[in-house]
Amino acid sequence: MKYVSTRGAAPVLNFEEAMLTGLARDGGLYVPEAVPTFAVDEIAAMAGLSYEDTAFRVMRPFIGDEFSDAELTSAIRKAYQGFGHAARAPLVQLGPNHFLLELFHGPTLAFKDFAMQLIGQLFQTALERRGEKITIVGATSGDTGSAAIEAFRGLDNVDVFILFPDGRVSDVQRRQMTTPVEKNVHALALDGDFDDCQAKLKDMFNDFEFRDAVGLAGVNSINWARVLAQVVYYFTSAVALGAPHRKVSFTVPTGNFGDIFAGYIAKQMGLPIEKLVIATNQNDILHRTMETGAYTKAGVTPSISPSMDIQVSSNFERALFDAYGRDGNAVAGQMTDLASGGFEISQGAYDFLKDHFASGRASEEETMATIKSTYDRTGEVLCPHSAVGVKVADDHLGATPMITLATAHPAKFPAAVKEASGRDAALPPRMSDLMNREERVTKVPNDLNTIEMLIHNVTGR
Ligand SMILES: *Cc1c(COP(=O)(O)O)cnc(C)c1O
Repeated sequence: MKYVSTRGAAPVLNFEEAMLTGLARDGGLYVPEAVPTFAVDEIAAMAGLSYEDTAFRVMRPFIGDEFSDAELTSAIRKAYQGFGHAARAPLVQLGPNHFLLELFHGPTLAFKDFAMQLIGQLFQTALERRGEKITIVGATSGDTGSAAIEAFRGLDNVDVFILFPDGRVSDVQRRQMTTPVEKNVHALALDGDFDDCQAKLKDMFNDFEFRDAVGLAGVNSINWARVLAQVVYYFTSAVALGAPHRKVSFTVPTGNFGDIFAGYIAKQMGLPIEKLVIATNQNDILHRTMETGAYTKAGVTPSISPSMDIQVSSNFERALFDAYGRDGNAVAGQMTDLASGGFEISQGAYDFLKDHFASGRASEEETMATIKSTYDRTGEVLCPHSAVGVKVADDHLGATPMITLATAHPAKFPAAVKEASGRDAALPPRMSDLMNREERVTKVPNDLNTIEMLIHNVTGR
């Protein structure tokens, strides 16, 4: 399987190279040259399989020869063994035709564990085989950072640096990043917002001298291997509800568009998905784009669903690449325009996007009201991100079963949950001492040079 950049000017790579590289050298994102497809009976044969067995079947065709069957099987098994639920991604029913896919039973209580735990295992396998050391730098609005740290802590050939916006993540999110004791883990509190963190990360990747010196690797949601790992639960949940013989729809609380793009890939592979609904909070660039055909930046207004507080949505570039008929030049041009504020999507590309995606937005009040009403009606306590999804899904219910992705555990956002529902959302017992562990964090200014020097010094590279 070959991977090409959405901007058409970076080397073509295999799966392992694309995974270790992250962002392409032309600033683009790697996508498969062609998406493999399943026959109807191959999807039907997934009924009743374990999460791990389905994961193997879904991911195998994308991975090529770089990982053997035994290596992939072992990586998958280790990735999900620490989850707190035997089903890994259990479905619960919220209403007559509405289901919730609980993706928060991993070690950091958010869906990002599904991808991060797996790529931790795959990185380790590949680096040991190659005898290489790397530096992982991530930017996080909260959940990516802790998921990355949890996946890479204690690994010999990896240093992990996570940039997070100082004061803009929840206490639980911050403590999950600042309390691990392993020497290879470095939490950096940046004086700025999430987009500043993300911009610094991009700048480091575009500084080739630095990138090569420290062996920079990215595990942000632009990493193709992460998207791939997330395709799996679209299959397990749809098959549990009767696919391929019955269609399903999905609503996905969306920020950087990685999770919903995985749903789009599942659909390309042959999973019968009727609607893929983008759910945004008040930072609604994606919803506005779907409504107007113009992709334009606005400032970020902090919300009670902070992991979706974004100004631009990096993985949206992958959808644009397909919408523009896989014309890397066209995408590169649009991305230059985005740097100076935004652009109008061409009519053909806009029609393509509307064919594949619907969208909706939930205000802060609607999100709070949904946490309360869902608790009152079903007893399910939603985190604010999942509540954004449930609200938008409610507006898109129809004859086809709707699956809303629950992206985090309510205990990660206890203040909002308490205010909305009156409920204390308790951490699972395995994490109950989190608030008492000692924190270790370095404050950094919003300045590329300072951050690069710090990484040089710490890694000695
Ligand atoms: C990261 C995150 C999201 C957004 O996911 P994307 O893949 O960036 O769209 C939503 N909810 C939670 C809890 C998250 O951590």
